[in-house]
Amino acid sequence: MHVYEKIGLIRQRIECACQKVGRNPNEVKLLLATKTVSPEKIIEAFWADETLIGENKVQELKQKYNKLKAFPHETHFIGHLQSNKAKEVVKYVSCIQSIDRMSLVKKLHKYLEKEDRRLAVLLQVNTSAEESKFGLHPKAALQFAKEMAGFPLLKVKGLMTIGLFSSESEKVRKCFRVMREVRDEISGHNLPGIEMKELSMGMSNDLEIAIEEGATIVRVGTAVFGERGFPDSYYWNEGT
Ligand SMILES: *Cc1c(COP(=O)(O)O)cnc(C)c1O
Repeated sequence: MHVYEKIGLIRQRIECACQKVGRNPNEVKLLLATKTVSPEKIIEAFWADETLIGENKVQELKQKYNKLKAFPHETHFIGHLQSNKAKEVVKYVSCIQSIDRMSLVKKLHKYLEKEDRRLAVLLQVNTSAEESKFGLHPKAALQFAKEMAGFPLLKVKGLMTIGLFSSESEKVRKCFRVMREVRDEISGHNLPGIEMKELSMGMSNDLEIAIEEGATIVRVGTAVFGERGFPDSYYWNEGT
């Protein structure tokens, strides 16, 4: 099957999930997770009218940049971001979805100040309580969001999470409910400059559940581009 056909199937899945809970499919953005995917394949997705991709490694982002730049698109950073790469990534992306610690926030903000720029970000929340995953503890997210108000060049737009990997859908759903609760808690405080519009959650295997629970961005890789050669832990863990 071609990339455009697989994208068609994903678009159908998004539509069905929205229908089930009475949501408008236009409220759900499709982000293509393009780690390990060649620029040629990504361009096939652009021809199919997709315009949003996500990368996990700064090195890979840089390598593909020149081949993709002629095509109108946006790139989000969705991997674990090492502080020493913070400066570099800002040149290539319109949003960092994986903000999970203050040291990173401070570095980014300092750089943005120098460049006289702003950048959209999402706060990553670890909703599965798995040690292998990065992200703020759900109970720490509110305090973190309060502190973010002191770094106005980073525009907080919402939250991101990687749900539990499990075939038990109720356990997966619970992660996405935790996200909603964290969002509601933070929105309830009306923090200056902090928006909670976006919930980035749901991947190839669990996007329906995520949409039912309120996802506004689903991040899909395997279902469009096929299996990857590396296990995902390679992309989520530092130093490996
Ligand atoms: C790879 C990746 C995805 C996509 O996962 P699939 O299961 O291949 O759809 C989504 N989010 C993040 C953060 C990823 O690293």
